[in-house]
Amino acid sequence: MSARTYKRILLKLSGEVLMGSQPFGIDPLYVSRLAEEIKAARQGGLQLCVVIGGGNIFRGMAAAARGLDRTTGDYMGMLATVMNALALQNALERAGVDTRVQSAIPMASVCEPYIRRRAERHLEKGRVVIFAAGTGNPFFTTDTGAALRAAEMNCDALFKGTSVDGVYDRDPKLFPHATRFEEISFDQVLSENLKVMDATAVALCRENEIPIVVFSIREEGNLVRVLAGEGTRTMVNSTPA
Ligand code: UDP
Repeated sequence: MSARTYKRILLKLSGEVLMGSQPFGIDPLYVSRLAEEIKAARQGGLQLCVVIGGGNIFRGMAAAARGLDRTTGDYMGMLATVMNALALQNALERAGVDTRVQSAIPMASVCEPYIRRRAERHLEKGRVVIFAAGTGNPFFTTDTGAALRAAEMNCDALFKGTSVDGVYDRDPKLFPHATRFEEISFDQVLSENLKVMDATAVALCRENEIPIVVFSIREEGNLVRVLAGEGTRTMVNSTPA
């Protein structure tokens, strides 16, 4: 794919990315490396929104399976994303990157509430804006929160940084001969129930014509490469596959 110029993107990071090689929680050393990658990605004036998950700390569904009320679990999951957002903000500011955290659940003494126009102003001033607490509603995921914010903030693309380097026809961890797609349509992802993001998130991106770029954030330097149109990734867009 030829390199294309993005003006503003949304980077979605799963909570598990912050664990580094730990089985749980936040690895500050790994978060620092992530901050350096984000810093490098911003060189050249790219405006960057970040949505961070919470799965490294708490998942509502998993807790519900063990008997906790689902909505309570989901609110706990959303609070976990705020912890992750603060950890990433801290690492980014240490790296010299001005950052604001905005939470969908207002908590005035911790961070700003989500205000779209204010977020817009931060981006114009070159600050990274981390959107925490997903959509602010139970029964949703941070993937959907990412698609929603990408649409609201008029992002050119949603970059989903995970542990896998793209979208495969089958789970590559279970099937070694699984094939990775270079490019795939939203419709195919939805009709074949491929594991990219949850269906609500994919449908929101389809409706708003926001391409999704799925890539491995664990590979060092990959964010910059993928932004330049290089590196291994899968592009999900409206073009029929
Ligand atoms: N969550 C929610 N509403 C949202 C976003 C997140 O209820 O809009 C809760 C939900 O319980 C979820 C948890 O927060 O399991 C952590 O988010 P997610 O699983 O999306 O994190 P990731 O998998 O990206 O680490």
